[in-house]
Amino acid sequence: MAQNAEPMARLEPRMDDIENLSHAVASQLNVQAATASSLPTSSSIPLRKDHLRTRKDQGTQSGSVPQEIETDILIVGAGFGGVYLLHRLRDELGFNVKCFEAGKDLGGIWHWNCYPGARVDSPIPVYEYSLEKVWKNWSWSCKYPGWQELRRYFDHVEQQLQVKKDVVFESAVVSSEWDEKRPGWTVKTEDGKTARCRYLILATGFAAKRNFPDWPGLDTFEGAIHHSSFWPEEDVDVAGKKVAVIGTGSTGIQIAQECAKRAKELTVFQRTPNLCLPMQQASLTSKEQEDRKDDYEQFFRDRKSTFAGFPFDNIQKNTLDDSSEEREKFFEQLWEEGGFKLWLATYKDMLYEKEANRHHYDFWAKKTRARITDPATADILAPLEPPHAFGTKRPSLEQDFYEQFNKPNVHVIDVNKNPVVGVRPRGLVTADGKLHEVDLIALATGFDSVTGGMMNMGLKDIDGKPLAEKWAMGTWSYLGTTCNGFPNMFFLYGAQGPTAFSNGPTCVEVQGDWIVDSIRKMRDESIQSIEATREAEEDWRRKITELSDKTLFPSANSWYMGANIPGKPREQLCYAGGLPLYQKELKESLDEGFKGFVVVNA
Ligand SMILES: Cc1cc2nc3c(=O)[nH]c(=O)nc-3n(C[C@H](O)[C@H](O)[C@H](O)COP(=O)(O)OP(=O)(O)OC[C@H]3O[C@@H](n4cnc5c(N)ncnc54)[C@H](O)[C@@H]3O)c2cc1C
Repeated sequence: MAQNAEPMARLEPRMDDIENLSHAVASQLNVQAATASSLPTSSSIPLRKDHLRTRKDQGTQSGSVPQEIETDILIVGAGFGGVYLLHRLRDELGFNVKCFEAGKDLGGIWHWNCYPGARVDSPIPVYEYSLEKVWKNWSWSCKYPGWQELRRYFDHVEQQLQVKKDVVFESAVVSSEWDEKRPGWTVKTEDGKTARCRYLILATGFAAKRNFPDWPGLDTFEGAIHHSSFWPEEDVDVAGKKVAVIGTGSTGIQIAQECAKRAKELTVFQRTPNLCLPMQQASLTSKEQEDRKDDYEQFFRDRKSTFAGFPFDNIQKNTLDDSSEEREKFFEQLWEEGGFKLWLATYKDMLYEKEANRHHYDFWAKKTRARITDPATADILAPLEPPHAFGTKRPSLEQDFYEQFNKPNVHVIDVNKNPVVGVRPRGLVTADGKLHEVDLIALATGFDSVTGGMMNMGLKDIDGKPLAEKWAMGTWSYLGTTCNGFPNMFFLYGAQGPTAFSNGPTCVEVQGDWIVDSIRKMRDESIQSIEATREAEEDWRRKITELSDKTLFPSANSWYMGANIPGKPREQLCYAGGLPLYQKELKESLDEGFKGFVVVNA
């Protein structure tokens, strides 16, 4: 359904993924003006005008921005990771730190993803910073806040940490080269700004490179098309409209659940059923949050001690240790508690043993099918035979997604049996020849996840070889934070780290703390540069594969395995050993004097 970038185009130093597309299609998709600016455009091309907003009266940029920046540390990306590092390195360690951010405001994915229903799937206070300065005066309205509230949270973060004065917005990084003479990095942005720095930190997240379908005729469509991650800032009113949602990853589920309540007709094009779990959303009062705050310090410490950075872990029991009655009771309890519990707080063998896994699937299918009235629809959304092992693809949290399909105007099409073969001015054509007339196409086609962003920003190693070439046949890093050939360059929430297998803020703080400790150690011990060795990278890659091969993850065609992008190497992209083991690895390297690195003293 979706097409990968052409190999040559991939090397183009542009932040986003629009190089996948013909210019006409890019315009049809209303890609963001900042990144589309390097595309030739015609007067008929309607570039989207969102992100021209500023939040409240805060203005995104304070003062004029110099074209040439000299700084100790340059961070790329101002989401959870970039903001955390900027604060710690500047305010605690006293470094001169600057940040380039492609978007117009803080927030990372919450700046970009404002599609209908966009909402976090990690409950609060799991999904927030552990910084007392930030949590002390903040409370949420509900357990799983939506994108608007997450943006307000970042406004509050700004009030507490004052990071914006060091963030240069609308600055998509398109090249970074090592300068041996200084030594340090020279980083350039799409609009011609240059920064020279000693340390380069990529806090670019796993979702910086969007994935688009390559259907013939897409540019002829006369309605509106929006990618979930380029959704217009102004609300897109779907009332009275016919809407198609393409894809059923977490985003597709959220868009469909929301639009089904307002659209005239909704058709979901599904490749793989999402084994969604019940969110069990709840409102929260400030008082109940205040009452818990005495325990927050301990809570945030504990958060780092579980496999996935949540306050719960799998139980020390195997699925078949319990009788079927006990198992059923336990599953029911996890279901009622909601969220990711049936995924991350269940029997410890669920992600390792097929039979154990099947018990989980059967329970899920039974509970889910009971909510769908039409048996044929149930067979598509929640088939009796598992489409993949339970939990080997990211489950979405839903509130009343399945009930929407009991309405006469909400449909699902299995694109494995009946794929989209083209687009006409008035809609989508499937292989059976049917034209599905729609006014709006919502592309929930996801991302070239984890590696795509870093491969798409013109990074070159000390010999001038692009990272995109280094990773063309597979990913090599050390500790999921550094790369051979890239001295003093760190990254987080990316390839070969716990990333997609962990709660975002937990992961960025664990990796961020290690980066801060590394830079502090370098300063204190007068170390000029560190660079991961090739051997350390080979070992790390072996570990990534071994840890993953023990699980059922490799059996699914998921974005975790790079399988959502045709032509992308099929490999485990994240560290599947859990946060405690991961932190042990990080600590060992530092305690043993940068084990796995070549250290050059000043
Ligand atoms: C729709 C969606 C829902 C999610 N829900 C959850 C959830 O429920 N729970 C969870 O734990 N995680 C979730 N995640 C994962 C989420 O990415 C992390 O929780 C968290 O946002 C990671 O923060 P980050 O700062 O590392 O990356 P991001 O938030 O992705 O921020 C990266 C920033 O880098 C910028 N950037 C990238 N490339 C460049 C460049 N070349 N030049 C300049 N700037 C650049 C981007 O514009 C962006 O602002 C979700 C992700 C998505 C996409």
